[in-house]
Amino acid sequence: MIPDDAEARRAVKPVICYPVDMLPQPDMTLYTAARQTLRKIDEVTVLPRDAACFSVPAGHFCRITSVEGPQVGDLNLWAQGDLKERFYSGKTRALHGTHVTTGDRLWSSFPAMRPMATITHDTLDWYGKDSFGGSVHDVIGTRCDPYTHNLLAGGQYHHCCHSNLTRALAAHMDMPVEQAEPHVHDVLNVFMCTGFTRDTGQYFMKASPVRPGDYLEFFAEIDLLGGLSACPGGDCSAEHSSDTSACHPLLVEVFAPDPASLGNWQSPRPNGYTGNHGT
Ligand SMILES: [Zn+2]
Repeated sequence: MIPDDAEARRAVKPVICYPVDMLPQPDMTLYTAARQTLRKIDEVTVLPRDAACFSVPAGHFCRITSVEGPQVGDLNLWAQGDLKERFYSGKTRALHGTHVTTGDRLWSSFPAMRPMATITHDTLDWYGKDSFGGSVHDVIGTRCDPYTHNLLAGGQYHHCCHSNLTRALAAHMDMPVEQAEPHVHDVLNVFMCTGFTRDTGQYFMKASPVRPGDYLEFFAEIDLLGGLSACPGGDCSAEHSSDTSACHPLLVEVFAPDPASLGNWQSPRPNGYTGNHGT
């Protein structure tokens, strides 16, 4: 039964759930100056259809670069030393929208809920939104995983991003895979080009516009442990969860700025809510 005032109800104007101008703003001028002083201190190459872990100390910069060919990366972040504080894709989406770029922040889970990282450079920022509603670096997808693959196609595929991240974390933490798996979480889809179809609202992907040399760079607001998987979908133009797509490595580099360039910058404190919940 369509009510008489259906059109009037549909015509109500939306309001932004979380006006981000109310949030503490990152000092982008400071970060821009600091990134002129960078010195590389570490690098890790993530092999195709595999993942690797890396550490980024607070106050350092991390760059994820496409090398050799178009490739999508699935990124997990944890607070170094506390796997319970981890990247909160859903809240980042609620605050910054479906895709992130320079100036957006990557938020951590409750109860700490603070910026873990601030994006400081994105060579794909020119892409914007295409005519399909697609954009780059999404926080809407979860990660390719063998469970969904089993439901949709059957079989046992072991190189989905979920499994790659699980193996990498288990090896890094020297823990069994069963213990590592629950720490793997919804990702930032680095370089992935995605959106929702306008008619059915379904999650779609298309060939990533990334080319070798493109990078996404972020500033670590707290001590970070990262995990990055080079998705078996390659540029995600056709399929994932199989070995049929062309896949390429990804380069992760960690840079130290001149400490003087950070001025009075301080690592953000955990969230100010008491955790009382009215009890
Ligand atoms: Zn994947």
